[in-house]
Amino acid sequence: MKRQRHPTVAHQSAPTEDASPSDTTAASNVPPRSGRRDEPIERPGLVLIQGRASRDPACRPSREAGAAARRNGRTGVGTRTQRRDTASIGRPAAAAASYDAVVVGARCAGAATAMLLARRGLRVLALDRARYGSDTLSTHALMRAGVLQLHRWGLLARLREAGTPPLRTTTFHYGDDAVEIDIKPRDGVDALYAPRRTVLDALLVDAARESGAEVRHETQLLALQRDGDGRVCGVTVRGAEGAVESIRAGIVIGADGRRSQVARESGARTYRSGSHRTGVVYGYWSGIGLAGNHWYYRSGVSAGAIPTNDGATCVFAAVPSTRFDEELRRDPADGYRRVLAACDEQLARAVDGARPAGRPFFFPGARGHMRRPWGPGWALVGDAAYFKDPLTAHGITDALRDAELLAAAVARGGDDALARYQERRDALSRELFDVTDAVASFDWDLPRIQRLHRRLSEEMNREVEALLALDSVPPASRSA
Ligand SMILES: Cc1cc2nc3c(=O)[nH]c(=O)nc-3n(C[C@H](O)[C@H](O)[C@H](O)COP(=O)(O)OP(=O)(O)OC[C@H]3O[C@@H](n4cnc5c(N)ncnc54)[C@H](O)[C@@H]3O)c2cc1C
Repeated sequence: MKRQRHPTVAHQSAPTEDASPSDTTAASNVPPRSGRRDEPIERPGLVLIQGRASRDPACRPSREAGAAARRNGRTGVGTRTQRRDTASIGRPAAAAASYDAVVVGARCAGAATAMLLARRGLRVLALDRARYGSDTLSTHALMRAGVLQLHRWGLLARLREAGTPPLRTTTFHYGDDAVEIDIKPRDGVDALYAPRRTVLDALLVDAARESGAEVRHETQLLALQRDGDGRVCGVTVRGAEGAVESIRAGIVIGADGRRSQVARESGARTYRSGSHRTGVVYGYWSGIGLAGNHWYYRSGVSAGAIPTNDGATCVFAAVPSTRFDEELRRDPADGYRRVLAACDEQLARAVDGARPAGRPFFFPGARGHMRRPWGPGWALVGDAAYFKDPLTAHGITDALRDAELLAAAVARGGDDALARYQERRDALSRELFDVTDAVASFDWDLPRIQRLHRRLSEEMNREVEALLALDSVPPASRSA
């Protein structure tokens, strides 16, 4: 194997390019946390009384939302409770609780958004049907911009304290050649990290709570509520004990993932779609003995080794979706070994000599989407708004980036601010989206994949510069 040290190229190198605009926060529009709770906040298009959404008596589930909730109520276990849920849809809520913002989904996008809104003084509820600290289907490499966000929010030290190992090199294996890149310490980013989602998502939830947000797990969105003008004005949810509750909100934020119910019910339009999808199998191994991130590329296959918490390394194998459907779906474990061996024999041998740490996971792939991320009374963030193939490992970084752009827009208030959120998200995402789709096509030879990586690297540098140009984020008022 030819090995070269390469200090500058590739997508996890340090920033070099110029920034995008910086005025994302509007401290003057943000109510002080200590302010009176009943003072109106002037925000065109978002009627908020500080500390609670306005009490519009007409706020109730829309016809489509009611139908969706009834469909929802008929699936899964616990039919009896669900029949009660269905009966309650459409009834005006008695003394509904009320928040400035309700965030549906409390993982990297939702918990980060809730934290940032709470730090700006808004009264926030985040809810998630999953349990606190649960895992989700995802490998978890953070790019520099993602690590930078955790640093800017004062959370990077906690990630390290949780035992997440710093990754000081990234090695790209193109066929038999290896290009090793040092991760240069800069702007508070000392290394890259790849925290397990059980660690990262819980850390963000804790930070959201410390910042003043209320977070409820095992709580499911049943339906959006709309007022007489069709504006989203709240949610109907089922809590951990099965009770159904109506909650009013100045804005409902869908951070509920790729198959977002908030996107569906609000009618968010998709205006950019990916053409390709990658099938992925991954597992965790102890004793792999690789330092730093390793990414492997060979005609028609790709793989990666990502050191994470508890001394384990996440090793994934990726192929075009058609090959996944024909070959890996039937026998993922065997297919996994074959793809690893085809991609890099040394990696396959390292896995053979390692101890499994947990069960294998597989993802058949999904085409990317870019959705309109806001409308009357609603907004989207994270995968709900914008998803791209995981092969470029950028979704969590996107979520942490866009959480801040959205929180600033919501705090500023008004349609213009939300339109600006969409513009900035698109400006930072379009090229990443297209390059990712090209990588996911597997229609490349080794020179072309390297060119695609250089384009990714340039975009990621631009992304870092844009984040560095943002105003600083208020610290948690109740920080431990
Ligand atoms: C195989 C795979 C590998 C990946 N690898 C990487 C990687 O290495 N690096 C990277 O940056 N990204 C990676 N990604 C992408 C990354 O996982 C996503 O971009 C990221 O999880 C998006 O976070 P999110 O908070 O938007 O959504 P999610 O993580 O999907 O969270 C959405 C939450 O919403 C909740 N929810 C949904 N519906 C409801 C409802 N009706 N009521 C209440 N709660 C609800 C769910 O319970 C869930 O907890 C990968 C993805 C896959 C599939």
